[in-house]
Amino acid sequence: MASDILIPPLRQTQLFTPELVYFEPDALNYPKGQRIWQWAEQQGLPIRQTTSHNRITNLPGDSELEKYRIAKKTLVVGLRKTLKFDTSKPSAEYAIPIATGCMAHCHYCYLQTTLGAKPYIRVYVNTDDIMNAAKRYIEERAPEITRFEAACTSDPVGLEHISGSLTELIEFMAKEPLGRLRFVTKFHHVEPMLHLNHNKHTRFRFSVNADYVIKNFEPATSSFAERIGAAGKVARAGYPLGFIIAPIIWHEGWEDGYGELLDKLKEALPEEATSDLTFELIQHRFTKTSKTVIQQRYPKTKLELDETKRKYKWGRWGQGKYVYPDEQANALREFITERIFDKFPEAAIDYFT
Ligand code: SF4
Repeated sequence: MASDILIPPLRQTQLFTPELVYFEPDALNYPKGQRIWQWAEQQGLPIRQTTSHNRITNLPGDSELEKYRIAKKTLVVGLRKTLKFDTSKPSAEYAIPIATGCMAHCHYCYLQTTLGAKPYIRVYVNTDDIMNAAKRYIEERAPEITRFEAACTSDPVGLEHISGSLTELIEFMAKEPLGRLRFVTKFHHVEPMLHLNHNKHTRFRFSVNADYVIKNFEPATSSFAERIGAAGKVARAGYPLGFIIAPIIWHEGWEDGYGELLDKLKEALPEEATSDLTFELIQHRFTKTSKTVIQQRYPKTKLELDETKRKYKWGRWGQGKYVYPDEQANALREFITERIFDKFPEAAIDYFT
């Protein structure tokens, strides 16, 4: 399939390298912990010890903003102690915890509020414990299929060269008749996973958006061209593929922006990608708390966070969120849905929320 309307990537997004690494002492009792330690040493990174990955209190930085930026470049290697998985509707039954935190700087990211004062990046070395817990969840729900989302609290593809955890999960899930893995990414570093035996039990999804959104709100992620190139590779490797268009943002020229997005996807994707393709559509939302945090951390953001232009939706846990009024939400949903079915008649739209 031709890809001539795609502009070749102007820059190559590099693999993430932290500037500071912490280890819980117990992490070194695991081969993965030792491997990451050796890697950090080879990279010449400063290494510190911490008693718990939940309590890093001495991060450098003079101001809150500086501490935040340094935290986003700090890796903490520890053990996952809580093996009770959160639910992860609507995309899966459970969130599978292999990492927490992310090095990218998407202005709208909900991790800014959910991770609170702990925005540093944690990877867990006890993947066997995590997989054993997943096995128990699968058995509990048999004969139903159980889906696990690995990207609820992180972007694990961007950390795979350090942790290797997705590789372990993909190979584990390949052998589970009733288990399925899924994750979403804004990174294109998929090479380590292209030759695995996945048995089609893992769905790779890429987060994509209108040019305006990627350019203005997604610093430190792979470019659209890089993501779409990686999507083609993943599809050719036989993985089921999906796209998450999120957050869908109402902006001047949004119809052109989202129309072009679907045109570019159609042009760039190989045939293999379109036979089992899913889309998930999520409109932009914010809470009062997230607005405050975003404005502190990205004071110059162009992200529209005006409550008076939004509809208030009550939340299950007390705090409600601001979404688009029905008229705008419906216009976005209808336009994007039509374009998807026009370009990819066989694709499934899993949900719009
Ligand atoms: S890539 Fe995903 S997890 Fe990382 S900052 Fe952006 S939205 Fe958040």
